[in-house]
Amino acid sequence: MARLHTIMFLGHGSMSQRTCCSGLVALSLLLLWPLNTLAEWYQQEAAIMGTSINVELWHDDAEQGRALTQSVMDEMQRIDDLMSTYKPTSELSYINAHAADGPVAVSTELLSLIIRALDYSVITDGAFDITYASAGQYYDYRKGKKPTDLQLEEALPAINYRHVKIDPQRSTIEFLQDGVRIDLGGIAKGYAVDRSMEILRLAGVENAIVSAGGDSRVIGKHLDRPWNVGIRNPRDRHSIVSMIPLENAAISTSGDYERYFEEDGIRYHHILNPGTGKSPHEVYSSSIIGSVATDTDALSTSVFVLGVQRGLQLINTLPDTEAVIIDNQGQMHYSAGLARIQ
Ligand code: ADP
Ligand code: MG
Repeated sequence: MARLHTIMFLGHGSMSQRTCCSGLVALSLLLLWPLNTLAEWYQQEAAIMGTSINVELWHDDAEQGRALTQSVMDEMQRIDDLMSTYKPTSELSYINAHAADGPVAVSTELLSLIIRALDYSVITDGAFDITYASAGQYYDYRKGKKPTDLQLEEALPAINYRHVKIDPQRSTIEFLQDGVRIDLGGIAKGYAVDRSMEILRLAGVENAIVSAGGDSRVIGKHLDRPWNVGIRNPRDRHSIVSMIPLENAAISTSGDYERYFEEDGIRYHHILNPGTGKSPHEVYSSSIIGSVATDTDALSTSVFVLGVQRGLQLINTLPDTEAVIIDNQGQMHYSAGLARIQ
């Protein structure tokens, strides 16, 4: 089960990073040292899936430690090759090009993730919807491009997860309407983090962190303490508003500051309300803590769209799941399980 330790708020004097040893502790560390010389942290960083991937793991074999950090990168690359809408050769691009013409055969892996995404559409009452891309395809945040009124008007009827028909027996997918496009950007990074962590666990790793942009999962500890994952100040890239200590848990943050442009005082960012095809503005960021990153990823995007009240209402019904939401006034809101330990 996911374990969440008391949250530490920066600026409130409880930072646990201070390293001070009494002489006695230092001596005993010294005595232990020869036993531990072989075990070390292995770390690797790379840019994959349009984001920064980071892995750190504790291993007692240098060659294996390095090979395992590389296998995480390989797994991230494999999933990106399968699911990216930016790659015309990906399986997902093939679906988008052909599923409106009739059922298309899909790999079990991709189908399972699409089914999980559709389940999230049901529990979020459509706030999480991979067909958002029917309108989302017209945005280009780097170039400051958004859909015209006409494009948006035509795309809106295509946004509806019910247009996606799955046949699990035949392993096929079909779009029941023209103009439907799907994109797994709101769940695929979390999935890739979970898959990578599974590779590490099967290889016997007991202490590790894997992150893909705002989605992280940890197992075990970091130097005998829980891992600390920061929640960024949504209006200042360089500052952290709170540190979340975690063991065997996942955390995802969705924010309006990752990919966006501004025009006439309006921020157009990469999370869209499926009802309007436009970016919601009620919150700056939503962070979800849970057991696995596939779920926290889908939920962080969902809660961003749902807003403070409906978002917390949903999270409070889910077991082992907590939320920290920063609204558009910079105010922080907590799910019931976190509010209890404040
Ligand atoms: P990040 O990609 O920065 O980790 P998120 O996990 O919040 O951020 O996911 C944002 C991505 O989710 C967008 O880039 C887009 O691909 C996808 N997305 C946007 N709006 C929705 C939505 N309403 N439902 C499902 N996916 C969405
Ligand atoms: Mg997400």
